Amino acid sequence: MNYTITEDFTGGNITVVEISETKAEVRINYRDSEPWCYWAFKVSGASGKTITFNFGEDAVGYCGAAVSHDLKNWHWSHPDDYRDDEKDRESFTYTFADGEDEVYFAHNMLYNPSDFENVDFMEKYILCNDFGDIPVPMATMGEGEDVILMTARHHACEAPANYVLEGCLKELFENSIEGYKIIAVPFVDMKGVVCGDQGKGRKPHDHNRDYNEESLYPTVGAIKELLNNENVKYVFDFHSPCHLGSGNDSTSLVNAYECLKDEMLRLSKLFASEMTDDCFKFRDGRITWRDEPLKGTFSAYSGGLGKVDFVCTIENPYFGEPGNIMTQQNYLETGRAFGRAMKKFIETKSEM
Ligand SMILES: [Zn+2]
Repeated sequence: MNYTITEDFTGGNITVVEISETKAEVRINYRDSEPWCYWAFKVSGASGKTITFNFGEDAVGYCGAAVSHDLKNWHWSHPDDYRDDEKDRESFTYTFADGEDEVYFAHNMLYNPSDFENVDFMEKYILCNDFGDIPVPMATMGEGEDVILMTARHHACEAPANYVLEGCLKELFENSIEGYKIIAVPFVDMKGVVCGDQGKGRKPHDHNRDYNEESLYPTVGAIKELLNNENVKYVFDFHSPCHLGSGNDSTSLVNAYECLKDEMLRLSKLFASEMTDDCFKFRDGRITWRDEPLKGTFSAYSGGLGKVDFVCTIENPYFGEPGNIMTQQNYLETGRAFGRAMKKFIETKSEM
């Protein structure tokens, strides 16, 4: 065998069981997390071969694997072959062209810390150090007493959320909201993102269940401090939902505060009205209502402080649905639409 499969890169996650000329048995490396769906690996030296990668469970999205040659630009391996059947999604087959020597495959289109260099219009800081002394980036822009706080990757595997966050920040840089400072923490589970951990469902609990009196994770402690020290008025937390299926295939807003219902409906309308042909579509009313905030979550903690006016989670699917398939570009555009909606949402409220 003269090809190799490794998880040895930022975001990498795989266990190799057995490889042959035409087939590779691989498994998701769940590490310290409950089974979910995240994997990413690099294949080297397979040029000219056709190989089926089999996971032994439903692990592949509707349009196959996310494929990249540089960890920057991603496309789907089977964009025209929408897989409806769970059994179809246990494996994917890829033909390596001659000279195609290094290929990255992943569950979803990765967004690594180096991609946040695209956000070069914000001031960058270190929020804190994560385990292993890995610096956790934070970025700010705008002047104002009041703060809009945006976060992503409370769950390390939820990379698509970062494209939407990036688009949103770009939009708000070009069309700022007067009187507000924006603070972004793009990789809350930074060590998990770097190491290729799934993060979601970590034991004993993950980063988005760590907003308790005592926090396990340094970044969560630092965000709690930030929430207490800054005059945070709005909180937007970017996530991706479950692997796929039903409500997990479309962008949705999530809220658990009855008192914010009218405001959520207003944001939903504004967001839907900002959709363009280039966006991954959000439809008005796609809102998940929770009876009450889930204990230990970022939204429960920030909403419970009494000084934050509005808290919302935005779920961004890994793959999408027929006619509305996720790409890096349409996610950036959706982020821009969300930024325009956010600006109108906050400015019209300020006038009320
Ligand atoms: Zn999440």
